Amino acid sequence: MTQAAVSGTRRSGASGERIFNFSAGPGVLPESVLQQCQEDVFNIMGSGIGILEHSHRGKVFDRLLEETFEAGRKVANLPDDYDMLFVQGGASSQCFMVPANYLPEGGTADYYRTGKWAKDSIKEAKLYGTAHVCFDGEPSKFSRLPASMDEVKHSASPAYVHFTSNNTIMGTQWHNEPTPPAGVELVCDASSDIFSKPIDVRKYALIYAGAQKNLGPAGTVMVIGKKDWLQREPVRPLPTMLKYKTHAENESRYNTPPTFGIYLIGQVFKWILAEGGVEEMQRRNEEKAGLIYGVIDQSSFYKGHAEKHCRSLMNITFTMPTPELEDKFIKEAEASGMDGLKGHRSVGGVRASIYNAMPRAGCEALASFMREFERTNG
Ligand SMILES: *Cc1c(COP(=O)(O)O)cnc(C)c1O
Repeated sequence: MTQAAVSGTRRSGASGERIFNFSAGPGVLPESVLQQCQEDVFNIMGSGIGILEHSHRGKVFDRLLEETFEAGRKVANLPDDYDMLFVQGGASSQCFMVPANYLPEGGTADYYRTGKWAKDSIKEAKLYGTAHVCFDGEPSKFSRLPASMDEVKHSASPAYVHFTSNNTIMGTQWHNEPTPPAGVELVCDASSDIFSKPIDVRKYALIYAGAQKNLGPAGTVMVIGKKDWLQREPVRPLPTMLKYKTHAENESRYNTPPTFGIYLIGQVFKWILAEGGVEEMQRRNEEKAGLIYGVIDQSSFYKGHAEKHCRSLMNITFTMPTPELEDKFIKEAEASGMDGLKGHRSVGGVRASIYNAMPRAGCEALASFMREFERTNG
């Protein structure tokens, strides 16, 4: 049964229905993509062979790779001097690949310290050079991003400026990217909000995103970058697989690439285009998040973690008067067919992750559950 068909009723996975999955990642994927995928795992494009079994150098995968790049370039509105790559190791491997390739010995890169993933990136950058923290969100418990560039202190000549566009755990999101110093390039971890809205890639030298939030299966990472950056010789000798150049020069198949991941991401790209592109994703995401923030804003029972000017359209974090009430909320939500709402231990409370593929019905169901819970427990 489709999600739309059971909207408004209690759902149960045990009876074969899909429930609303608010997990922060791996997260919800579009149902039409999953249904097509079920067929393609058995026999793709009439080849008599499933997607998992095709050679990465065969004709079927040639076509899938080409289609994925073509759809991806459209979704991202990529200029000719930008490229898209697929690599492995999760977004966490990008934390070290970026400085390994671009932060020279003795050099400094500037980092926005806005949450757990930013801290991970800083930790890895220190293996290669100096990571200068140009803004630290810790004093405000990572509940806010800088409201203006006056709060940001750059180093003298950073190799690049790194930021996390959406802080998955904290529920904060940049609604406009930070401005780096003149002549300095921007690098972005966009794992949890990639293609949730239009993005002007020209403002970036490099964007990376682990697939499991808005794009596809865990493990695969999409990288978008200026060709000039991706094809550049790294600033130090590196193993072949750790150079962006290797992947850029070999259409992301120097070795056996994550073929299933690339296929599924391609299907998600096509889904985004068919649904109206990233502009439509943004319209829906604003509407969906508005349903839930609307309840929080009208309530003295629910308290949002993120400051309003920077709250996320993807991960909505909030608390209740006591941890006991939060536990009860999560348990009762589960019984009503809403899963994955427990907040990260560092923030506590509830986190509703409402990625591109979360249907509006899921947000409506959560919003009305929240109202009812407050009425009976507030
Ligand atoms: C999930 C996430 C990561 C980590 O991704 P892995 O694929 O588990 O390495 C990094 N950054 C952000 C912003 C994330 O949301």
